[in-house]
Amino acid sequence: MTSGSLKDYRERRDFGTTPEPEGRESGVSPEPIFVVQKHAARQLHYDFRLEVDGVLKSWAIPKGPSTDPKDKRLAVPTEDHPLAYAGFEGVIPEGEYGGGAVLVWDTGVYRNLTEKKGEAIPMGQAVAHGHVKVWLEGNKLKGGYALTRFKTGKDESWLLVKAADEAADPRRNPVADEPQSVLTGRTIEEVSS
Ligand code: MN
Repeated sequence: MTSGSLKDYRERRDFGTTPEPEGRESGVSPEPIFVVQKHAARQLHYDFRLEVDGVLKSWAIPKGPSTDPKDKRLAVPTEDHPLAYAGFEGVIPEGEYGGGAVLVWDTGVYRNLTEKKGEAIPMGQAVAHGHVKVWLEGNKLKGGYALTRFKTGKDESWLLVKAADEAADPRRNPVADEPQSVLTGRTIEEVSS
Protein backbone atom coordinates (compact mmCIF):
# COMPACT_ATOMS: atom_id res chain seq x y z
CA MET A 1 0.00 0.00 0.00
CA THR A 2 1.97 2.99 -1.21
CA SER A 3 -0.70 5.66 -1.33
CA GLY A 4 -2.15 6.72 1.98
CA SER A 5 -5.59 6.12 3.33
CA LEU A 6 -7.18 7.98 6.20
CA LYS A 7 -9.80 5.30 6.87
CA ASP A 8 -8.08 4.00 10.03
CA TYR A 9 -7.47 7.55 11.21
CA ARG A 10 -11.15 8.47 10.88
CA GLU A 11 -12.50 5.23 12.34
CA ARG A 12 -10.52 5.67 15.54
CA ARG A 13 -11.75 9.16 16.30
CA ASP A 14 -14.99 10.96 17.17
CA PHE A 15 -14.60 14.39 15.59
CA GLY A 16 -17.44 15.70 17.71
CA THR A 17 -15.26 15.10 20.79
CA THR A 18 -11.61 15.39 19.82
CA PRO A 19 -10.13 18.72 18.65
CA GLU A 20 -7.94 16.85 16.14
CA PRO A 21 -8.51 17.77 12.44
CA GLU A 22 -10.72 15.49 10.37
CA GLY A 23 -8.57 16.34 7.36
CA ARG A 24 -8.51 14.77 3.95
CA GLU A 25 -6.08 13.29 1.48
CA SER A 26 -4.19 16.09 -0.25
CA GLY A 27 -2.32 16.50 -3.50
CA VAL A 28 1.44 16.16 -3.83
CA SER A 29 3.42 19.15 -2.51
CA PRO A 30 6.53 20.51 -4.22
CA GLU A 31 8.23 20.68 -0.82
CA PRO A 32 7.01 17.84 1.38
CA ILE A 33 6.94 18.44 5.12
CA PHE A 34 7.79 16.46 8.21
CA VAL A 35 6.61 16.96 11.75
CA VAL A 36 7.53 15.49 15.12
CA GLN A 37 4.77 15.76 17.72
CA LYS A 38 5.40 15.20 21.41
CA HIS A 39 2.40 13.27 22.71
CA ALA A 40 1.72 12.75 26.40
CA ALA A 41 -0.62 9.78 25.95
CA ARG A 42 -0.65 6.94 28.49
CA GLN A 43 2.97 6.44 27.40
CA LEU A 44 4.82 9.60 26.44
CA HIS A 45 6.17 9.30 22.91
CA TYR A 46 7.12 11.30 19.83
CA ASP A 47 5.13 10.91 16.61
CA PHE A 48 7.39 11.21 13.57
CA ARG A 49 5.40 12.00 10.42
CA LEU A 50 6.54 12.38 6.80
CA GLU A 51 4.35 13.74 4.03
CA VAL A 52 4.04 10.98 1.42
CA ASP A 53 1.49 11.00 -1.42
CA GLY A 54 -0.88 13.46 0.27
CA VAL A 55 -0.94 12.04 3.79
CA LEU A 56 1.41 11.91 6.79
CA LYS A 57 3.07 8.50 7.13
CA SER A 58 3.52 8.08 10.88
CA TRP A 59 5.69 6.29 13.41
CA ALA A 60 5.55 6.45 17.23
CA ILE A 61 9.03 6.78 18.74
CA PRO A 62 9.03 6.06 22.50
CA LYS A 63 12.41 7.77 23.17
CA GLY A 64 12.14 10.44 20.48
CA PRO A 65 14.69 11.23 17.75
CA SER A 66 18.41 11.49 18.47
CA THR A 67 21.14 13.60 16.89
CA ASP A 68 23.73 10.89 17.70
CA PRO A 69 24.36 8.42 14.82
CA LYS A 70 25.12 5.70 17.39
CA ASP A 71 21.54 5.73 18.72
CA LYS A 72 18.96 3.42 17.16
CA ARG A 73 15.50 4.63 18.10
CA LEU A 74 12.58 2.23 17.91
CA ALA A 75 9.82 3.57 15.64
CA VAL A 76 6.48 1.76 15.63
CA PRO A 77 4.30 2.45 12.57
CA THR A 78 0.88 3.98 13.23
CA GLU A 79 -1.99 4.97 10.98
CA ASP A 80 -1.65 7.61 8.25
CA HIS A 81 -2.68 11.08 9.40
CA PRO A 82 -4.06 13.98 7.31
CA LEU A 83 -1.64 16.74 6.32
CA ALA A 84 -3.62 19.17 8.47
CA TYR A 85 -2.46 17.21 11.51
CA ALA A 86 1.02 18.72 11.16
CA GLY A 87 -0.29 21.94 12.73
CA PHE A 88 -2.24 20.24 15.51
CA GLU A 89 -1.37 21.17 19.05
CA GLY A 90 -3.83 20.71 21.91
CA VAL A 91 -5.40 18.21 24.24
CA ILE A 92 -7.13 15.02 23.10
CA PRO A 93 -9.78 14.36 25.77
CA GLU A 94 -9.31 11.50 28.23
CA GLY A 95 -11.04 8.35 27.03
CA GLU A 96 -10.57 9.26 23.37
CA TYR A 97 -8.03 7.48 21.17
CA GLY A 98 -4.58 8.81 22.16
CA GLY A 99 -6.01 10.94 24.98
CA GLY A 100 -3.45 13.48 26.27
CA ALA A 101 -1.59 16.63 25.24
CA VAL A 102 0.13 17.06 21.87
CA LEU A 103 2.65 19.70 20.85
CA VAL A 104 4.57 20.35 17.65
CA TRP A 105 8.09 19.51 18.81
CA ASP A 106 9.71 20.08 15.40
CA THR A 107 8.65 20.65 11.81
CA GLY A 108 10.05 21.69 8.44
CA VAL A 109 10.51 20.41 4.92
CA TYR A 110 12.43 17.34 3.89
CA ARG A 111 14.08 15.86 0.81
CA ASN A 112 13.88 12.22 -0.18
CA LEU A 113 17.40 10.76 -0.46
CA THR A 114 16.32 7.14 -0.84
CA GLU A 115 18.07 5.32 -3.63
CA LYS A 116 18.86 1.81 -4.72
CA LYS A 117 21.86 1.07 -6.97
CA GLY A 118 22.11 4.78 -7.74
CA GLU A 119 18.43 5.12 -8.71
CA ALA A 120 16.15 7.49 -6.80
CA ILE A 121 13.26 5.64 -5.14
CA PRO A 122 9.96 7.57 -4.70
CA MET A 123 8.86 7.94 -1.07
CA GLY A 124 5.78 5.73 -1.42
CA GLN A 125 7.93 2.87 -2.66
CA ALA A 126 10.62 3.55 -0.08
CA VAL A 127 8.08 3.21 2.73
CA ALA A 128 6.60 0.07 1.16
CA HIS A 129 10.10 -1.44 0.84
CA GLY A 130 11.01 -0.56 4.43
CA HIS A 131 14.04 1.59 3.57
CA VAL A 132 13.71 5.37 3.75
CA LYS A 133 16.42 7.99 3.78
CA VAL A 134 15.51 11.66 4.17
CA TRP A 135 17.23 14.98 4.69
CA LEU A 136 15.37 17.06 7.30
CA GLU A 137 15.31 20.84 7.40
CA GLY A 138 13.71 21.37 10.79
CA ASN A 139 14.30 23.73 13.68
CA LYS A 140 15.76 21.02 15.91
CA LEU A 141 16.42 18.15 13.53
CA LYS A 142 18.62 18.65 10.49
CA GLY A 143 20.44 16.45 8.05
CA GLY A 144 20.09 12.83 7.10
CA TYR A 145 17.95 10.26 8.89
CA ALA A 146 17.34 6.63 7.94
CA LEU A 147 14.22 4.68 8.76
CA THR A 148 14.59 0.93 8.36
CA ARG A 149 11.99 -1.77 8.89
CA PHE A 150 12.69 -5.02 10.68
CA LYS A 151 10.42 -7.85 11.73
CA THR A 152 10.05 -9.11 15.26
CA GLY A 153 7.87 -12.19 15.00
CA LYS A 154 4.54 -11.06 13.59
CA ASP A 155 5.12 -7.42 14.49
CA GLU A 156 6.67 -4.81 12.26
CA SER A 157 9.01 -2.29 13.78
CA TRP A 158 11.37 0.28 12.37
CA LEU A 159 14.53 2.00 13.57
CA LEU A 160 15.21 5.72 13.17
CA VAL A 161 18.94 6.50 12.99
CA LYS A 162 20.75 9.79 12.41
CA ALA A 163 23.15 9.73 9.47
CA ALA A 164 26.81 10.50 10.27
CA ASP A 165 26.89 13.86 8.49
CA GLU A 166 27.72 17.46 9.38
CA ALA A 167 24.39 17.85 11.19
CA ALA A 168 25.09 14.93 13.55
CA ASP A 169 25.96 15.92 17.13
CA PRO A 170 26.34 13.29 19.87
CA ARG A 171 26.59 16.04 22.52
CA ARG A 172 23.09 17.30 21.87
CA ASN A 173 20.07 15.76 23.57
CA PRO A 174 17.18 17.68 22.02
CA VAL A 175 14.45 15.50 23.54
CA ALA A 176 15.65 16.41 27.05
CA ASP A 177 17.04 19.90 26.48
CA GLU A 178 14.69 21.37 23.85
CA PRO A 179 11.23 20.30 25.05
CA GLN A 180 9.18 23.28 23.83
CA SER A 181 6.80 23.54 20.91
CA VAL A 182 8.38 25.15 17.84
CA LEU A 183 4.98 26.73 17.08
CA THR A 184 4.06 28.27 20.43
CA GLY A 185 7.07 27.86 22.74
CA ARG A 186 4.93 25.92 25.21
CA THR A 187 5.98 22.84 27.17
CA ILE A 188 3.75 19.76 27.25
CA GLU A 189 2.69 20.74 30.80
CA GLU A 190 1.63 24.17 29.51
CA VAL A 191 -0.37 22.60 26.69
CA SER A 192 -2.02 20.23 29.21
CA SER A 193 -3.17 22.91 31.63
MN1 MN B 1 0.84 9.58 19.32
